Amino acid sequence: MFKKILIANRGEIALRVQRACREMGIKAVMVYSEADRDAKYVKLADEAVCIGPAPSGQSYLHMPAIISAAEVTDAEAIHPGYGFLSENADFAERVENSGFVFIGPTAASIRLMGDKVSAKQAMIRAGVPTVPGSEGALSDNPVEIKRIAKSIGYPVIIKAAGGGGGRGMRVVHTEAALLHAVQTTKAEAGSAFGNPAVYMEKYLQNPRHVEIQIIADTHKNAVHLGERDCSMQRRHQKVIEESPAPGIPRRLIEKIGERCAAACKKIGYRGAGTFEFLYEDGEFYFIEMNTRVQVEHPVTELVTGIDIVKTQIEVAAGSKLPFSQKEVRVSGHAIECRINAEDPFNFMPSPGKITGWHTAGGPGVRVDSHAYHNYTVPSHYDSMIGKLIVYGDTRDQALARMRSALSEMIVEGIKTNIPLHRELMVDAKFVAGGTNIHYLEKWLEQHPR
Ligand code: ADP
Repeated sequence: MFKKILIANRGEIALRVQRACREMGIKAVMVYSEADRDAKYVKLADEAVCIGPAPSGQSYLHMPAIISAAEVTDAEAIHPGYGFLSENADFAERVENSGFVFIGPTAASIRLMGDKVSAKQAMIRAGVPTVPGSEGALSDNPVEIKRIAKSIGYPVIIKAAGGGGGRGMRVVHTEAALLHAVQTTKAEAGSAFGNPAVYMEKYLQNPRHVEIQIIADTHKNAVHLGERDCSMQRRHQKVIEESPAPGIPRRLIEKIGERCAAACKKIGYRGAGTFEFLYEDGEFYFIEMNTRVQVEHPVTELVTGIDIVKTQIEVAAGSKLPFSQKEVRVSGHAIECRINAEDPFNFMPSPGKITGWHTAGGPGVRVDSHAYHNYTVPSHYDSMIGKLIVYGDTRDQALARMRSALSEMIVEGIKTNIPLHRELMVDAKFVAGGTNIHYLEKWLEQHPR
């Protein structure tokens, strides 16, 4: 096992990985930008290295600074967390070429899955169902583009091959709007992602977002850890996640989960990863794969009892997966609310000093957050300041525990979306389960503030 790992991230995930290292007796090196100098996990670190000023381009995205920090501290491996460099194939390659282990898949796997067109093609070859659409990237031929859209049937969605974070997508309802939409998405994709390639998919009207967690070792073992329902989204960003997905038969989950595990073996995938699907009328349609640990991993940890971050580190060190597919059991129900430093009504970011911080506790309650009393939320990064996760034997019990936990959470000095979560946890449709990806935005429209 590694003796020392460098954690190339910040915020709650940096703390989450640091906790896994502590538990495993591994020393953790934290890197931080000038804006995160006072973070508690930096103060509590075995070692900490400042890698640059606040803007992430000059710190958390600055590969030479991170690799030198690993060199000077003699770390053996680098955990990238999520976001920042976690899905950057060049970074994974540079880490390994510099003699460190990248805690994640190979650069080749990241490249294959990072391009949504090649990812989709690989999934088709591996027998994973995908959203009907163009075979590969769209050409410049207007006749051909119109023909593809017609054969798929409107509405269609034009998506950037290099897109991510909910950006680079455009829905088209009529042929009249098609060519202009393709051109605009291409131009945007070129400047935002450095890759103008776009592809076309059927736009599913009322799907749910259901994803499968997988983990694979370097000994040809790959298992799935069940699903997460992440349909509660605003602007394609997840707000609430849960596992299991309400109302989806277990045998369907098992079937798609086995396909995902088989696909991992086929492409030689290693480490943790997530296959994202849209689910509509009893069918799963692959949309993309995330080649890293995800924000919402705790809900899977609570229903399976498997520590995903610890397992990531174990398989990166070359160990065999400590469990087989048969040993993975899903029981109970877990729900996660993302706590963001933002106005709960207009969603404007609300950075600043937290003057009061009282978290929730009690049976089945987990708070993953780097925040504390007198912590200042910097304005330079994502607004998520933590996650409140609950577990119950049943979904009803989990909901009851979440309501109680949300009522205990007090955050003063900045605004958070906790009031929004309190309302959603008593919303009749959400409580019934199975809401689709448009539900939250429609709900927000119907509940003007
Ligand atoms: P990103 O990498 O930017 O997150 P995804 O491909 O995962 O992009 O899609 C993000 C979200 O966009 C999905 O969760 C879903 O809400 C919506 N979406 C993507 N593709 C489709 C589609 N074919 N039909 C309907 N909605 C879609």
